[in-house]
Amino acid sequence: ETGIVIVGAGQAGFQAAASLREAGHAGPVTMIGDEPSLPYQRPPLSKAYLAGKVDATGLFLRAPGFFADHRIACETSVQAASIDRAAQHVRLSDGRDLAYDHLILATGSRNRPLPVPGTDLAGVHQLRSIADADRIQAALAEARNVAIIGAGFIGLEFASICAARGLTVTVVEAADRPMARAVSEPIAAFFRETHESAGIRFLFGNGVQAIEGRDGRAEALQLSDGTACPADLVLIGIGVIPNQDIAAEAGLRVEDGIVVDSVLATDDPCVSAVGDCARFPTRFAAHGTARVESVQNAIDQGRCVAARIAGRATPYDAVPWFWSDQGGHKLQMVGLPIPSDVSVRRRTANGFAVFRYRGTSVTGIETVDSAAEHMAARRIIARGLSPTPEEVADPAFDLKALAM
Ligand code: FAD
Repeated sequence: ETGIVIVGAGQAGFQAAASLREAGHAGPVTMIGDEPSLPYQRPPLSKAYLAGKVDATGLFLRAPGFFADHRIACETSVQAASIDRAAQHVRLSDGRDLAYDHLILATGSRNRPLPVPGTDLAGVHQLRSIADADRIQAALAEARNVAIIGAGFIGLEFASICAARGLTVTVVEAADRPMARAVSEPIAAFFRETHESAGIRFLFGNGVQAIEGRDGRAEALQLSDGTACPADLVLIGIGVIPNQDIAAEAGLRVEDGIVVDSVLATDDPCVSAVGDCARFPTRFAAHGTARVESVQNAIDQGRCVAARIAGRATPYDAVPWFWSDQGGHKLQMVGLPIPSDVSVRRRTANGFAVFRYRGTSVTGIETVDSAAEHMAARRIIARGLSPTPEEVADPAFDLKALAM
């Protein structure tokens, strides 16, 4: 008996498998994962896990018994090497062929490499997996000068953890502010100030030309303005690229992501793609399609594909949301990052919110330390509501009533 094969045992692949069983799908379900561990959550890797507040067992999405109980075969440390769509089977790195009725690609993304000399020196890291986090954790014990390349979410979360440990932290960023592509200017300014008051030094508008070392170990960053920055621990956090090679080699369409339609199917009706690796049509994007790197997206797309396979197809239309923990503050965002014409700030009980406008439409709502407003924001964005800038700026204006 053939069945459903899921390539990638991460957040999205796991969700697809679990949701198939919840939806009553009875046939075989097999997940293929190239990491040694069962499916786990990545967000704590740059937060509580690196801070030593949760251990590895706290990362796993389910205990090992779940997979047996739900008859989900989860193969670890094995890679899907290629797909034969005509024969409907996946060739594994150990030489086996696995037949499928339906194939779900949930291959995620990998860290974008930094194309400069010295990235192979000891002390230079990227963060994606438990293995990466464990290597970084060990290196932190001896580190003094930490340099972070890229002021994105992962870089800044890591910077916070290092600063809290009393290390000297420098963040080098090509743009003129942190999280430049993802958040509004008021949010960027708030977190810049938060990090600077924790002692983190930013070098904006600067690039890295090389990582220099001695005896095979990183010692300094050589910057494009000609200066050097001492660094015995370097974290490169310059974004990710989708794992789409096996899809492309199988003749599936890829455009910075495996291209899928509104129900997350590829051009081959027997193959779907979900999570970080998928490019899908969405009303929340500026240009019609998006590829989204978030837990929300991985979970909701896993559910959507499972429902379709179980016979209840619905177009994917979940509201995008995301969070990041930095410097003791919780940032939450709803909507996809679209450059704004105007951003309007609103006071909340314990923090503030920023409404991002494109013309008169609200395209995104960011909140700091304001969980209730974030929940209201999800409903506002889902329903396409656009309170006026005057209403938003008025703390007496009832946001929750609007979102009811
Ligand atoms: P993944 O979870 O990456 O899983 C894909 C799996 O497939 C991987 O294990 C990969 O090794 C495997 N794989 C790839 N190709 C093959 C193959 N050919 N054969 C077998 N296996 C293969 N999101 C948030 O919403 N909030 C956060 O705060 C947040 N913080 C994060 C912090 C860190 C440090 C990282 C790395 C990510 C964070 N994210 C966060 C992003 C979130 O974790 C991802 O969007 C999510 O994991 C995507 O799920 P996925 O299943 O698509 O991919």
